[in-house]
Amino acid sequence: MGDLLLRDGILADGSRVDIAIADSVISSVDPTGTAGGDTAEVVDLEGRLVLGAFGEPHAHLDKAFLADVLLNPAGDLDGAVHVMRSNWHRVPIDDVVERAERAVRKLVASGTTAIRTHADTTPEGGLKSVEALVEVRRRVAGLADMQVVTMAYPVSGPDGDVSRNQLEQGIALGTDLVGGAPHLEDDPSMAMAVALETAAAGGVAVDLHMDEVLDAGVQYLEELARLTEAAGLGGRVTASHCVSHGLLPPEEQREVGRALADAGVGLVTLPRTNLYLQARGIQTAPPRGLAGVRALLDTGVTVAAGADNVQDPFYVIGKCDALETASLLISTAHLGVDEAAELIGPGTRRVLGLPAAEVAPGSPAELVAIAAASVREAIAEQPEDRIVVHAGRVVARTTVDSWVATA
Ligand SMILES: [Zn+2]
Repeated sequence: MGDLLLRDGILADGSRVDIAIADSVISSVDPTGTAGGDTAEVVDLEGRLVLGAFGEPHAHLDKAFLADVLLNPAGDLDGAVHVMRSNWHRVPIDDVVERAERAVRKLVASGTTAIRTHADTTPEGGLKSVEALVEVRRRVAGLADMQVVTMAYPVSGPDGDVSRNQLEQGIALGTDLVGGAPHLEDDPSMAMAVALETAAAGGVAVDLHMDEVLDAGVQYLEELARLTEAAGLGGRVTASHCVSHGLLPPEEQREVGRALADAGVGLVTLPRTNLYLQARGIQTAPPRGLAGVRALLDTGVTVAAGADNVQDPFYVIGKCDALETASLLISTAHLGVDEAAELIGPGTRRVLGLPAAEVAPGSPAELVAIAAASVREAIAEQPEDRIVVHAGRVVARTTVDSWVATA
């Protein structure tokens, strides 16, 4: 007997189907009304659009919803880092857990069932975020696949030994990846090497904040690609942000893309916060602060797109909804609808090292059903009405009766 039958969903190509699920895997996708056999639970999708579930490849859940508590009047990256660092000791660990779990539950309700979050450690801040987010990962284990990155810097310079120690402590506490921000270090090359060596020794992956600055001279992606190949870590390394890549001429963007693709380094672009934080104060033709996404796709790089921060000093607005990210990709990176959907779904799962989630037999049952007639309409309207399946089980169901004025 099957575990779950989702009746009458619409696929992206417009066909109407019934989706049967057994043991967390899609066992069949048949034209509506033709699926037979016993099923423990039947859910009528009533013509909702069904897609593979979304992913969030780059969150900072420890900071979620702090926008009204820790203020950043300048609105830039330095201001956000400053207010966080000078106040972090006042934020109790229980508060971190509560806000982060709330953000995960909102992400899941919007159709995101795979999440990678960074957990900042600093010499003065300790491992509070790591401990909190590992606890949240435990609490939401039935709702989403969650990965935690121990993000430590500086690992070069006078305080380097403290941060290098914290990377190892983070792995010991059960985090899934090593992170950092080489462009902020005294010695970026050493910082990249430390991250890769620590990850290799600890048997975990790497996700680094790379080149998050509007300075065309700051370009460490090709070196990261070389180091990744040398360490034999292809497929286990992610470069996030990569803002200055977008300042290069097109042929140089493609050259970097080829190096990343050859080395198996994935890339995460983050339009929401990088449009907000970068180019502050430039009133005439401000640059967009995004990696050269078109060149990266053209050269075969595995690209994902995420939201980064939500309602905190780094980004005071924002929803926990991957469709918001897709919408921004279409407006600001000039991607097509299907390309944007690829980056928040399949692209993200590839960067996270997870199997593809498709609406097809044999695929893991990671699904989102949305009250929309097409992928384009879903991204445009971002309707709250969604039904979400994780590991073969309905984990969220938000239904809305009407989206128009009725008076
Ligand atoms: Zn980040």
